[in-house]
Amino acid sequence: MVLTEERYGAAPVLGAATLQDFRNSLHGQLVLPQDAEYDEVRKVFNAMIDRRPALIVQCIDTHDVVQSVQFARSHNLPVAMRGGGHSVAGHSMIEGGLLIDLSLMKNVEVDPVKRIAKAQPGLRLGEYIAETEKWGLVTPTGTASDTGLAGLALGGGYGWLSGKYGMTVDNILGFEVVTADGQVLHASETENADLFWALRGGSGNFGVVTSFELKLYMVTEVFGGMLLYPFAMAREVLRFYREVASTAPDELTTYAALLTAPDGQKMVAILACYTGSMKEGERVLAPIREFGPPVVDLMRPMRYSEVNTLIDEANPQGMQNYWKWNGLKDLPDEAIDAIVDAYARVPSPRSAILIDQLHGAASRVSPTATAFAHRDAPHGLVIISLWDDPSEAEVNIAWTKELAAATEEYSTGGIYVNAEFGDKAHAAFGVNYERLSQIKAKYDPTNFFRHNQNIKPTVNAG
Ligand SMILES: Cc1cc2nc3c(=O)[nH]c(=O)nc-3n(C[C@H](O)[C@H](O)[C@H](O)COP(=O)(O)OP(=O)(O)OC[C@H]3O[C@@H](n4cnc5c(N)ncnc54)[C@H](O)[C@@H]3O)c2cc1C
Repeated sequence: MVLTEERYGAAPVLGAATLQDFRNSLHGQLVLPQDAEYDEVRKVFNAMIDRRPALIVQCIDTHDVVQSVQFARSHNLPVAMRGGGHSVAGHSMIEGGLLIDLSLMKNVEVDPVKRIAKAQPGLRLGEYIAETEKWGLVTPTGTASDTGLAGLALGGGYGWLSGKYGMTVDNILGFEVVTADGQVLHASETENADLFWALRGGSGNFGVVTSFELKLYMVTEVFGGMLLYPFAMAREVLRFYREVASTAPDELTTYAALLTAPDGQKMVAILACYTGSMKEGERVLAPIREFGPPVVDLMRPMRYSEVNTLIDEANPQGMQNYWKWNGLKDLPDEAIDAIVDAYARVPSPRSAILIDQLHGAASRVSPTATAFAHRDAPHGLVIISLWDDPSEAEVNIAWTKELAAATEEYSTGGIYVNAEFGDKAHAAFGVNYERLSQIKAKYDPTNFFRHNQNIKPTVNAG
């Protein structure tokens, strides 16, 4: 049975005195539509998401989050939470409700002896890595430095170190979380273990996370970078990439990409990161660098923070974005042909197709060990449509959907909660949906947190 969520309807009109009392109760700022900074504060990564919350609370501590949850509940306001604001689908921005903005909460505490970091939810990956790297320590996260830690970590989090050390969700030791009733809970293996399981992949469905406790690993340097080839070699390069990826040791994570260079030429790229000794990295990467040969070879030893900026320039803030992520069972020639044919007619030169990799430590974790279910997809096909002019939405979205449909037969049916539009919670949470929905019923029975790939709370009959 699904519990009703009718209670959270349209926002009521709030009186000046009510708003003033709320403002007085906060340590951070309350930003309203009439405030000068409102338009700047409501901006998110994807310019297509142009929404106007009734209230924005710029939280600076857990107290502000509790106040926001209680205020929203008592005034029947729908809520959204924003960490780094990179949800391409717009799950971190709401029309007419209350935005719990965590982006100012950026504290990091590193315990170099225990190799644990405590991190707040407003951090971007680059900011988090800059702090931990001071100690020669890093957590496996994503591949772009501007992405928010919170949304990435709550949805799964895969990147350059996942083959060696697993996904971000595999490296979370605990959370501080404000639940739908305004309680501050700790969740770990020993405290609220069901919530701990659900938060590791369940995205924003279970509460507002105010602190993450994350494992750290000693990684000072990696061997990484990018190889670029002419688009005419795309099929050959992607077939070669398939062999490279399927035989890669845990230390080596590789992606392939179809992209357009700034001079307008379409290219195909292999991106790689080797975590281990630089000598061994050079040896493992040598046959890959010899293939082709590439027209540009940007592989070299670099800091982890640097490999984490490889795709930054291609994904600036403020563009129109429409993405799709399909887990792939494998990468047969037919799928490669569909991908290359689609990129040959891509409507926007800013768009790219990324074939990412989930292997090694990340793939050895059971799909039910955390709420992130998609351990069976060796690759994700990420169709990244990016364009400037809002009037070109239709053609770009159609192109994205066409390629997703053309490759559907090779897909596992799973999608990444952090990359998809639409109501697709069953595909996003897969085998874990039922258990998540039971846990949702315990911690959020009225579905207060529902502006997301929504897990509906269920109760057992009888
Ligand atoms: C350029 C780019 C590169 C990317 N690369 C990768 C990658 O390499 N690997 C990868 O795994 N993903 C990647 N992603 C996807 C990324 O994981 C998501 O965009 C994610 O949403 C980013 O986190 P955020 O904090 O910026 O998100 P937000 O937009 O702030 O939030 C995303 C979701 O999480 C919820 N949320 C945010 N903060 C909290 C909180 N404190 N408590 C509870 N819920 C919260 C929001 O309500 C929303 O539902 C990439 C995305 C982009 C745009």
